[in-house]
This record gives sequence, structure tokens and C-alpha cells, in this order.
Amino acid sequence: MTQLFNTAATPIAELRSVFKSFSTAGGHELKVLEQIDLAVHEGELLALLGQSGSGKSTILRCLTGLIEPSSGRVLHKGETLRGINEDASVVFQTFALYPWLTVEQNVAVGLMAHQVSRAERDAAVDRVIELIGLGNYHAAYPRELSGGMRQRVGIARALVSQPRLLCLDEAFSALDVLTAENLRQELISLWRSPDTGLSSIFMVTHSIAEAVEMATRIVVLFPRPGRLGLVLENALPYPRDEKSPEFQRLVSLIHECITTTTLPDIPADVPVAGQPISRARNRMESIPLVPVGQILGLLSILNDAPELSNIYDISDEVGKEFGETIALVKAAEILELVETPKQEVRFTELGRRFVAADRETRQAIFAKQVFKLRLFHIIIALLEEYEEVEAERIIKDIGSALPYDNPEKTFQTMIAWGRYAGLMDFNAQTGMVFVPKSDTVAEESA
Ligand code: ADP
Ligand code: MG
Repeated sequence: MTQLFNTAATPIAELRSVFKSFSTAGGHELKVLEQIDLAVHEGELLALLGQSGSGKSTILRCLTGLIEPSSGRVLHKGETLRGINEDASVVFQTFALYPWLTVEQNVAVGLMAHQVSRAERDAAVDRVIELIGLGNYHAAYPRELSGGMRQRVGIARALVSQPRLLCLDEAFSALDVLTAENLRQELISLWRSPDTGLSSIFMVTHSIAEAVEMATRIVVLFPRPGRLGLVLENALPYPRDEKSPEFQRLVSLIHECITTTTLPDIPADVPVAGQPISRARNRMESIPLVPVGQILGLLSILNDAPELSNIYDISDEVGKEFGETIALVKAAEILELVETPKQEVRFTELGRRFVAADRETRQAIFAKQVFKLRLFHIIIALLEEYEEVEAERIIKDIGSALPYDNPEKTFQTMIAWGRYAGLMDFNAQTGMVFVPKSDTVAEESA
């Protein structure tokens, strides 16, 4: 390899075979990232796309040295990273500004870790404030600014140290649509402009359109545990037109990839080798962490608008992020109320009966379906033996059965589903799970 090739090919930041686990509030080990190999190259705008909770922020934090992986290596220009990556700046979703500092002072915070004279600092702050379009706001306080302006301050603070790598963690998701669009365009032109020193952008997002609009390369992170899925080059010329067929084609390609991985078209009970998420019911399968009310809402929308058969359209209709819609559909699917051939969502026979039924029949159907989910047998089996069971014990069992899920959150969702089904109840005061004493408890054969 020539020296030239070496320099050009050395990534600005890189994860090699990174694994990361956290302990949850209840002290259980949660495996969040598995075998992540990801490099940010000079000159690229890399988007990491994934649903909420898939581990995107964890990857960003590892990559920039904010946290350490449980195992694997973090590199900076080919060398092991020690501490924070000095070439990188991060902009977070929430506008983490100091309320008692002016815009100017908040921006100057971005230079605190750097050795600069006062004059240099002032010049750098002035320059970046102009660059980011905050010219009239030097002396303003955050409370006087709109959300969009505050996020500009956040971006200015990240850029003031002239980083080679700018990392954005859902930096636009708290902004209104127009402001977000405007800022995205401005960031693209900053990154493309040769005189900012900014070489690469690494952005984390859950919006497919945002990734396709901005990135030169898109990596999709699959959840539980976070694993890298699809990697796509995006060579569309800037500025990108959301309505263009090529743009739409990329968006649906990614949609499709996420849908078919989350809701694969394979029959239950047939484990498929190499398939990341098995639908086999005889395995312990995790449940999407969605409230019963939202599953019912989804079913009622499907019932009212039969023309909505496609996950993208349903997403639009319910006004949810694609990932959240998928979680809802998946919940309805494991309960066998809908089926999902290809990109479609269709009622099953049972689902049709369910939506048409009265409250009691619904409860009975729900109970029967919940009963079929192996995960629930952790609780149901204990409740057959004891009148009351400690939540702590159940959570521990969930933790061992599903190492990639947060057992406390899974427990809460199970209780919510089980409550609706009339199968179980939970007293938060005593920390005990018990069988509700009511005559509406569904028969197993209902
Ligand atoms: P994303 O950014 O994709 O929404 P995160 O990387 O923030 O996902 O989190 C991934 C998973 O790791 C989540 O289940 C989250 O609850 C968990 N997690 C993240 N940080 C911690 C932490 N410090 N302690 C415990 N769990 C954490
Ligand atoms: Mg995040």
C-alpha cells in the first residue's frame, strides 16, 4: 500500500468489533451493541439510521470517546482512541445550552477544552456566529430564542473549535418541520464548503427521509441487540429533491429492508438459519413495548380505512415514526390479529372478529392470544403456583430469557397486556403480581 492510499483510507473515527452492555435500573445486564464495525471516512456524510432504543446514541458516544465499549476497539485516525476524540464535536437533540450565558458565551463553551488566546477565541466565536446566522443574537439569552435558534447555538458551539468531524444526535428531531429543513440545508452547505475545515459528518437519525436527503452513505442499525444491517451508498446530487424518483426509490428500499427484517414473511415455528429475527413461536420471543391502547387504535384505523394496507401509508395516517408503527404492527402480528405479507398489513380472520366484538369477547380473545406467547408463561406459570409473585423475581427471569431487552420495560408492557387480558395485575405498592379476583377472567378455551 502506498503512503498516499494509507492516509486517504484511514478513517477519522472507527469502531472495530464493538460490544456494549449496560446495567439497567434493576441491575440487570442489557446487551445493547453487538459486533459493531463502523468507520467514518474523511469527506463523507454518514447517517446511522435506526429505531428508538436500537443503540444509535450509544454508537455515537463510543465513537467520540464519551463512553467506552464493553469490548472491541475505538480508533481515531488509525490509532487507539484515548479519551475524547479531539477532532469531533457533538450536537445533541436537546439544546443543552446554559440559560445564564449569552449566545456568545454559550458558543465560547465549545472552545473551553482548547488552548486559545482571548483574541483568538473572540474571533472564532464571531466567525461561527455569523456563519450559523446568529449575527443579531450575540448578547441574547437562550430563553429569548426560538427552538430553531437555540439549536443553531448548539451547532455553532460544536463548530467553533473547527472540528473535522461533526456528530449530530437526532439534532433536528425537536424542531418544527420548516426550521429543521432549513438547518439541514445549511449544514449540508457548510459541510460542502471547502473553507470550514469540516470534513465529515456523522449523523444519527430515526428519519429515513432525513438520511436520504443528507447522507452520502447510510447504515441501518437493527435493534435488540444493535447490529449493523443494510449499508447503502447514496450518490444523488445535492440539492436533493424529495419528490424525485431516485430519492423515493432509496426511501422505499430502506423501508422495505426494515420492514422485512422486522416482520419477515416466514411462517411461525420454522426457524430460518441466518435470519436475524426468528418468528418461531417455540422460542422465547420478545414483545414490542407498546401499550394495548395503541394496538387497539391501530386495529381501529385499519378497520375504518381498509385502503390503508401498506405500512408507509399507515405510518403517515397514525402520524408516527416508521419504527414506532412497525412496533405496533408487530405487536398486532404476534397476537395473530394481523398478518404482514410483503409490505402489506391485513387483518387475520381472528383480527376481524376481534374488532367486531364487544368488550368482553375482545378481552377473551386477547387473553387467549397472550396465553400463546411463551414469554407470558414466565408469569403465568408462577401465578399457577403462587397467589402472588414478586415482580423482582419475574423481572429477573425475563432478563435471563431475553438478554437484549430491558427486563423492567418488558415487564411493564407484559403487565399492561396481561391486565387488559384479565390474566394478571400488579400492585406497585407491594411490588407483587397477582391474578385479578374478578369473574371476567377469560377461559383458556375462550
Ligand atoms: P437510540 O439512541 O437508538 O434511541 P440508545 O443508544 O440511547 O438508543 O439506547 C439503546 C439502549 O441502551 C436502550 O435500551 C437504552 O435504554 C439503553 N441504555 C442507553 N444508555 C444506557 C445507560 N447509561 N444505562 C442503561 N441503559 C442504557
Ligand atoms: Mg438516541
